[in-house]
Amino acid sequence: MRAITRFTASQEPVVIFWFRRDLRTEDNRGLAKAAGSGHRVLPLFVFDTDILDRFDKDHPAVTVMCKSLADLDSQIRKAGSALIAFIGTTAKVIQHLVKSLNVSAVYANEDFEPEGKRVEGEVRDVLRDAGVPLHLSTDHLIFRPGKIVKDDGTPYRVYGHFRRRWLKAFESEAMSPTREMTEARWFKPVDAGITRFTPKIAGFQEANTVITDPLLNRERLLQYQNRRDYPAADGTTRAGQSLRFGTISIRKITGLASRYSKTLLDELIWREFFMNILFHFPHAESGSFKQGYSSIRWRNSEDHFMRWCEGTTGFPLVDAGMRELKETGYMHNRVRMITASFLTKNLLTDWQWGEAWFASRLSDFELSSNNGNWQWVAGTGCDAAPYFRVFSPAAQQIKFDRRGEYTSKWVPEAGSDSYPAPIIDEKQTRKAAVEAYREALSKYKGERSNSRE
Ligand SMILES: Cc1cc2nc3c(=O)[nH]c(=O)nc-3n(C[C@H](O)[C@H](O)[C@H](O)COP(=O)(O)OP(=O)(O)OC[C@H]3O[C@@H](n4cnc5c(N)ncnc54)[C@H](O)[C@@H]3O)c2cc1C
Repeated sequence: MRAITRFTASQEPVVIFWFRRDLRTEDNRGLAKAAGSGHRVLPLFVFDTDILDRFDKDHPAVTVMCKSLADLDSQIRKAGSALIAFIGTTAKVIQHLVKSLNVSAVYANEDFEPEGKRVEGEVRDVLRDAGVPLHLSTDHLIFRPGKIVKDDGTPYRVYGHFRRRWLKAFESEAMSPTREMTEARWFKPVDAGITRFTPKIAGFQEANTVITDPLLNRERLLQYQNRRDYPAADGTTRAGQSLRFGTISIRKITGLASRYSKTLLDELIWREFFMNILFHFPHAESGSFKQGYSSIRWRNSEDHFMRWCEGTTGFPLVDAGMRELKETGYMHNRVRMITASFLTKNLLTDWQWGEAWFASRLSDFELSSNNGNWQWVAGTGCDAAPYFRVFSPAAQQIKFDRRGEYTSKWVPEAGSDSYPAPIIDEKQTRKAAVEAYREALSKYKGERSNSRE
């Protein structure tokens, strides 16, 4: 464990607010509760090595996170305090602070993904031993998993049903933003050194990623439904990074969506749906949600997989998406679906290979959304696209990039001699994929009817 922010503290009583994926002071539920405690609030962030050790050293999400931390630190410094950062395991850092300062409670927002829950459990244990309470709030989602469930209390597996219940609950939910933090009394470090929140301090390299603030003006939201499917149109919100690290409040974006774009609201509900799925069905993290799909005989050609990763498959729209991902840490949603379908169906490659590649390259990587969408495309998920649905890259190009604006930006050589020939025959591979899925499913006929609601 190592302190990144150099500081000296008095023995005045404080509460700790442990920042996690909620890197903002505005409309932050847990932070507002900490501020309401009456004690000074010590703002803490831990570069948790147990989590970070799993990330590639040039992961774009780490670059985004560090930029968000620098912004948060400057907001807090304006109020005369400083974001106190450590590197190590979170439980050990909190244990150390509780021993060396006069801490009366720890506040945080809950994380619903498996790794976050594990870290939370360790923190809870050390605080229990120290006799210090841990107060958790729900901030990252509108509704905590477990709230939107069927009448008998069991979780939904079908998005449409989840959505209906979610919308009903949302009508009665008080969406008022949490009291702003201007009134909070922050912890005053006696002498806090400047912290440069760069990937380097956590042993990472700066990634070549595009960092985008969410684009939420009224016109864009009103046009969202018409423009969101066209990768060249720049018609989406680019809110993924901000939602991942909580630099925007979910209540703020959901409130705007409910006013100006029901289609965007549906997408935000998908995000909550997938987080609920992983929360209630943790087995989906490491395998098919529907067990019956576990026995698909993937072809898993390493050569084809590398060509897909590099964007040299000879299918311009697929290659454009994969190159965009590699160069910017972002890929448009429609193209994510097309590239994922191409990998799992046409190349008959295990969806978990693709999931892992996206996880290592996306600047908005979120386990539940990535896993849920990959399983949706591969047909292995809870409420997935039917297995025989195979996107045709050529047909998708005509529909969504007719003039080739998107494709030619990323694959300027398409159509020339220097561009590779297609690595597979689209029709043949589509047929082979449907057969491979059918064969696996015929072994597990019963499973499909059991999973229906
Ligand atoms: C194979 C695949 C992998 C994906 N991996 C991720 C991931 O790791 N992280 C991630 O945030 N999204 C993921 N998505 C969903 C979606 O592609 C991105 O959220 C979206 O492209 C981000 O750009 P945006 O903010 O401009 O989207 P917008 O269309 O403006 O959407 C606004 C927000 O709604 C949510 N959202 C939109 N579409 C979806 C969706 N299909 N599922 C869940 N939430 C959605 C996101 O939080 C998004 O930021 C994946 C989709 C696919 C097909």
